[in-house]
Amino acid sequence: MTLFRATVLDTPQNPFTGGALRAESDAGLLVRDGAIADRGAFAALAARYPVDEVVDLRDGLLLPGFVDTHVHFPQVRAIGGLGMPLLQWLERCALPEEARLADRSYAEAVAADFVDGLVRAGTTSALVFGAHFAPAVDALFVEASRTGLRVTGGLVVSDRLLREELLTTPQRAYDEGLALARRWHSTGRTRYAVTPRFSLSCGDGLLDSCRSLLSDVEGVFVTSHVNENDLEIATVAGLFDGCGYVDTYDRAGLLGRRSVLAHNVHPTDVELRCLADRGATVAHCPTSNAALGSGLFPLKRHLAAGVRVALGSDVGAGTGFCLLKEGLQAYFVQQLSGGDGVPLAPAHLLYLATAAGAEALELADVGDLGVGRRFDAVWLRPSAGSTLAVALRHAADADDALAKAFALGTPGDVAGVWVDGGRLTPAPLAEAAALVDTAAR
Ligand SMILES: [Zn+2]
Repeated sequence: MTLFRATVLDTPQNPFTGGALRAESDAGLLVRDGAIADRGAFAALAARYPVDEVVDLRDGLLLPGFVDTHVHFPQVRAIGGLGMPLLQWLERCALPEEARLADRSYAEAVAADFVDGLVRAGTTSALVFGAHFAPAVDALFVEASRTGLRVTGGLVVSDRLLREELLTTPQRAYDEGLALARRWHSTGRTRYAVTPRFSLSCGDGLLDSCRSLLSDVEGVFVTSHVNENDLEIATVAGLFDGCGYVDTYDRAGLLGRRSVLAHNVHPTDVELRCLADRGATVAHCPTSNAALGSGLFPLKRHLAAGVRVALGSDVGAGTGFCLLKEGLQAYFVQQLSGGDGVPLAPAHLLYLATAAGAEALELADVGDLGVGRRFDAVWLRPSAGSTLAVALRHAADADDALAKAFALGTPGDVAGVWVDGGRLTPAPLAEAAALVDTAAR
């Protein structure tokens, strides 16, 4: 048994429906077999239990591990392509890089960069948009398993309008998806997600094959994109005889409680009702929306319609893996939305970055740090003398401290990450060591 000692912040109750930030300074979390067995004042727990080890995390804040509900594995090296709207960015930045993942050894190197990037940002669970190539997706799962991250992901499929080498057929998409799902779905911490790229690049036959895979493998997820950009939406309407974007997925039978659609910046009210009825989740990706100029996310309309919303980094259109930055950007977007905006408090941001994602991914025992949950956690400890260190030292209360963490926190402040009570270690600094080595010679 291990006793963790820290200032613990989490959101066990949804702040959008009356919950508030739960904050406990000098708290003890007793972890047994990866789960939180007891929680309370540190001194009381220390007196009560004969623990093997006390882990002192009092310097900084302990939060639930972040849950990223939309992030692209093949795009880690494409981050930072600024100045283009969606379709141009895909053509010039994302898809050429995605095509390189046809080479398994290249894909393995990208998988290592990608998973390492998530861990360093404090992300413990992610719904990952895979690659268009089955061996590359396999490489992602291998790396996720090695590291211990909770990854739900799958083969990305398309059969039109992208570069030739990224296209597949309905039968091949089904066969390759089934083989990957058999190997990785519910194996350890990995699960499978059926992943049509977006209706723009998927004909009816391919969407039907996605539905078949969804029906044939119990418990898999579905993820895709929707309503991101005006030109994209108009193109989809043209391809599907004026059918609404959400409806292209719904009529294929792809929407349910295990469906996560990214963006939804420009939905109609009918579409919001449909998403709410199906219980699907929207992955809000605010830095991506800003970088591509896609628009301001209508959070208030989603909440009013009862649509579930969580956060996604959308690397590589998004500008990094850190969900603290996405939370801050989500806050900015609402501030800039005038009367249509939702004023977001720090507790909302933490909820969106943790418990909301856990609910979307049906990870019932993660998302907060209550008794009975798995110990999936991130320890933010700002480096001495940093502005975040100064700000935390002078925070008025826990909400204020959390606001400062969202305003100033970066992956450089992530001092520890745990999944199931085990500490994840970022890849050894092999690259840095190699550089030093080269310099020495
Ligand atoms: Zn995306």
